[in-house]
Amino acid sequence: MATRPSSSPARLSAAALLALAGLSCGVPARILESNVARLFASPLPVPDKVRAPYRPEARLAALWVGHATVLVQIDDRWILTDPVFTSTVGLMVKRLVEPGLAPEDLPPIDAVLISHMHLDHLSLGSLSLIEPKVRAPLVPRGGLVYVPNHSFASFEVPTWTTWRQGDLEITAVPVRHSGYRYGLDRDWMTESFTGYVVEYHGITVYFGGDTAYDRDDFVKTRARFPAIDLALLPIAPVGPREFMESKHVDPAEAVQAFLDLGARRMMAIHFDTFINSTDTFGEAPRELRRVMAARGLGPDRVILPRHGEQRILITRGEPGGAAAASAPAPRGE
Ligand SMILES: [Zn+2]
Ligand SMILES: [Zn+2]
Repeated sequence: MATRPSSSPARLSAAALLALAGLSCGVPARILESNVARLFASPLPVPDKVRAPYRPEARLAALWVGHATVLVQIDDRWILTDPVFTSTVGLMVKRLVEPGLAPEDLPPIDAVLISHMHLDHLSLGSLSLIEPKVRAPLVPRGGLVYVPNHSFASFEVPTWTTWRQGDLEITAVPVRHSGYRYGLDRDWMTESFTGYVVEYHGITVYFGGDTAYDRDDFVKTRARFPAIDLALLPIAPVGPREFMESKHVDPAEAVQAFLDLGARRMMAIHFDTFINSTDTFGEAPRELRRVMAARGLGPDRVILPRHGEQRILITRGEPGGAAAASAPAPRGE
């Protein structure tokens, strides 16, 4: 086991580190007693990592690398969301579980989706690490200034506009989130938060980045994209709720967002990878399972992945899009 008990001085050091780190979503500096031991431990290993992610039998597959990083295959195209492969974010916020895919095993990525500039979503170290694999990073309005010169060209995609490359179409969609990257940018970083909808060959994937619950955003997105095959939705950080609820959905709100979007399936992301809350390890997935049971949603509709797990969601010969529209409605929708 990679964890070991922490001493009292270690707890104080952790509190100091977290305060200094100024965690990207602006978490108040408070002692995270339940997670402190993990701050001083090695990241948990991910056994049996996928080495060759291409699935010839898949039309749609998704591999959860960890946090908001998901590798999506749609037929012959590759999308990577908010890539973070570093062992820390912002130098001091430590990774709890190692990345579920080695960066050297990434295929060439057609589009990297950057949802916003928080340190746990835009990782410049990670972008440099995977630079040879990256063709086009997309960023929200006001995001280009945060992506310094690389060999690839980056593209700013304001809300409700679409970036196209051949048959691949990616549209920025609204989410509700706030915060800053460096502190000084708090006042002007008001629009640089987005979700994305990816469309290719009749398959549609939603990526929520970080978002609070705002029914209006999800309903508007559903009106424009009525047949989402897969919604990648955060389920944490949950606590302290009074601070988080204006910035982050909890598991129940994530499930409601999934239903508002009318998506065929949801994959839960953004949990148990970095310490950015008072949540204990495993708390958000436990709550998600409880919500799923209460709302009559089985694992065929809501996927709770392990780090490094790859799921094939649509196989060859199966249609995308149209099938989503006929997905059965759960109780309480
Ligand atoms: Zn954020
Ligand atoms: Zn985040």
